[in-house]
Amino acid sequence: MPKEKKTRTHEVAKQGIVFNKNFGQHILKNPLIITDMVEKTGLRSTDVALEIGPGTGNMTVKVLEKVKKVIACEIDSRLAAELLKRVQSTPLQSKLKLLIGDCLKTELPYFDVCIANVPYQISSPLVFKLLLHRPIFRCAVLMFQKEFAQRLVAKPGDKLYCRLSINTQLLAKVDMLMNVGKNNFRPPPKVESCVVRIEPKNPPPAINFSEWDGLTRIVFTRKNKTLSAIFKQDSVMEVLKNNHKLYCSLRNLDPSDSNPSEMVAAILTKLNMETMRARTMDIDDFMKLLLAFNSEGLHFT
Ligand code: SAH
Repeated sequence: MPKEKKTRTHEVAKQGIVFNKNFGQHILKNPLIITDMVEKTGLRSTDVALEIGPGTGNMTVKVLEKVKKVIACEIDSRLAAELLKRVQSTPLQSKLKLLIGDCLKTELPYFDVCIANVPYQISSPLVFKLLLHRPIFRCAVLMFQKEFAQRLVAKPGDKLYCRLSINTQLLAKVDMLMNVGKNNFRPPPKVESCVVRIEPKNPPPAINFSEWDGLTRIVFTRKNKTLSAIFKQDSVMEVLKNNHKLYCSLRNLDPSDSNPSEMVAAILTKLNMETMRARTMDIDDFMKLLLAFNSEGLHFT
């Protein structure tokens, strides 16, 4: 109990607020990193910038100086109030629009660029919320837990290559920009961080993303298994068979005229992919595979 009290008063004394661990509140205290992140976003004076989790606004005020408008989405109303206080009666005030709430549940407005030091627990859903947002934004510069950032940029054959890597890289160009040590934050998190830049492909690839996600979800569940072995699993064929039945009924076809297991085997043979494994497959491989499945009426969603 006394220990708890000590850390709390420590934080209160420094900032006037107690940081809430559940919201992943680790405030960036090193101004050089903030400046670097802002610079690497390539902000233009005509930009609408979206900031997720502005906290007390260390980054927000620097972005406000450079753009037409900042839309900042903050879940913690106490921090939102701090930020408002900070810009009140300054020329920056009129450029800031604050959305109070969970960014994952908030409908995001138009934005050109996104900048954020986000809580790590929302990293993955946030990346896909941004990438599936329309119209497409120009660029996002985001701070993530190091391992998450490494998975985002991993290439076929890399140890950390996974569904997150391929799904992100289908939709965007991703670059690792810098490592950021724990001590640049207050309070310091338990893990190291990295900043990445995400530039969505524009126009986006002509791919049904839920179908793509359905396929990569299946093959990356066991990324070291051959495709042939993956598609022999009952649970996997069950999904494909059910979707195929639905596909047939929507087209007034008789599902008993076709056998999905045999169709899958034939596709893998034709593409010469029976012995391929997800861990070394690239975007083109998955595109070919998905196209072949879909054109035979085999669907993942
Ligand atoms: N950007 C600030 C604060 C980073 S801490 C800085 O760099 O100093 C992460 C911030 O995200 C906190 O302010 C936290 O309250 C906020 N946050 C956490 N979950 C959120 C969510 N789901 N939606 C919006 N903001 C969130």
